[in-house]
Amino acid sequence: MKNYHEQARDIPVYGEYDVIIVGGGCAGLTAAIASARNGASTLLIERFGYLGGTATASLMANINAFRNQKEPDYLQTTKGIGAEIMVEMHKIDGLGQSSYKQKEKYNIEEGELAYSYAIDPEKFKYITLKMVHEAGAEILFHTYFTDVIKEDTQVKGIIVENKSGRSAIFADVIIDTSGDADVAYKAGCPFWQVKHDEDKRLGDGLMYRITGFPEETDSGPIHGSIAGKCMTIWGPAAPLLNGADAAELTEEEIKTRLEIYDHLEKLKKDRPELKDAEIVDTGPLIGVRQTRFIEGKYKLTAEEALAGKQFDDVIAVCASPIIHYYGYRRFLEHEGFDIPYRCLLPQEIKGLLVAGRCISSDQPTYESYRAMAPIMSIGEAAGTAAAIATEDNVLPEKININKLQKTLIDQGAELGQNRK
Ligand SMILES: Cc1cc2nc3c(=O)[nH]c(=O)nc-3n(C[C@H](O)[C@H](O)[C@H](O)COP(=O)(O)OP(=O)(O)OC[C@H]3O[C@@H](n4cnc5c(N)ncnc54)[C@H](O)[C@@H]3O)c2cc1C
Repeated sequence: MKNYHEQARDIPVYGEYDVIIVGGGCAGLTAAIASARNGASTLLIERFGYLGGTATASLMANINAFRNQKEPDYLQTTKGIGAEIMVEMHKIDGLGQSSYKQKEKYNIEEGELAYSYAIDPEKFKYITLKMVHEAGAEILFHTYFTDVIKEDTQVKGIIVENKSGRSAIFADVIIDTSGDADVAYKAGCPFWQVKHDEDKRLGDGLMYRITGFPEETDSGPIHGSIAGKCMTIWGPAAPLLNGADAAELTEEEIKTRLEIYDHLEKLKKDRPELKDAEIVDTGPLIGVRQTRFIEGKYKLTAEEALAGKQFDDVIAVCASPIIHYYGYRRFLEHEGFDIPYRCLLPQEIKGLLVAGRCISSDQPTYESYRAMAPIMSIGEAAGTAAAIATEDNVLPEKININKLQKTLIDQGAELGQNRK
């Protein structure tokens, strides 16, 4: 590829904050709520005009893993802000029929949640925006993170682009919840990625929503999820390409978008109850499952996840199955493994926390914590840790872990303290 030398120039400073969060998906929005509620001046940057990330912009409208999908499932592993969002969704009739069969014994008004729920993505946009706004976090929508401002190995701020042009924003702590580890990557943090089919990985896919099916339709056999009058369908799978490369991402979009009507027609042949169904929407972004993963101060492995390993620096618990473990859905035989705080701390770079689907782990472990309930627990932990770091005037890697854990538990999070 040819290079063009871009001239250096002065750009405006948009502001200075305690905490900047890059990416408003399930990890970023929970981080923003936690950071702001803990008293940090917080700015959330998001490239779209609403929150939710994959849940809304990619219509991944089935939130999994508030607890184990199979017994032992007594421990609800995602509580705190993640559960609060679901209770608020329930209050406005925003939850629906997951494609996974559920026990019905849980009292959602009290925050007791089953393994999985379908969500109405529009109501999810509304509730999450309301909660972030009410927590007092500032939001900058339609804004793209483009670079970091670094002094030696410490990240001090970010460069963004939007309709107003290019600007700099400074903060004591930056949280990378971009899903693709964009900030960590630009900061020079080591990372790993399976770009094509050279190793095991999960592929990307285009979700779409349909209407026009009978009210009594069971979404299970269709592998769709129903909320309100719409069913979200796992649509065409993309070729195994690199979702962090603009040209390859475009190729994924073109291929899957040109296939959706055939996809529905094929589905109709197997499922006569869908004979009158019509596609009503897709999101602006294909569902990108995985790109870069940071190499953090600790790398969680499948052996540890399968053994239910517990760590002194636990900040979240995950009981989600490994969805494609050597070709089959591998359920956990325990009530959840711990996610250590060190998985959120990038190697070599200071002033930065990473949360969401790109934290430091191997492939199978990611396939477990990638579900949106554990992702929300991880986000809450990152936002709380960032607020503590700014309050105590220390770098994120130097915070008092007992204080973080106590704060999380006081906020209602589950760190394994209720294990039997
Ligand atoms: C096809 C598919 C099926 C799935 N099935 C399920 C399922 O059934 N149940 C389940 O629970 N989970 C499922 N998942 C996984 C789950 O949806 C994701 O792991 C989770 O949503 C990731 O959340 P996140 O916040 O880490 O990242 P994301 O949701 O990717 O959020 C990242 C956010 O950052 C923003 N962003 C990115 N880069 C920039 C930038 N440079 N500047 C500004 N903003 C930026 C994005 O717009 C986005 O809002 C599925 C995922 C896919 C793709």
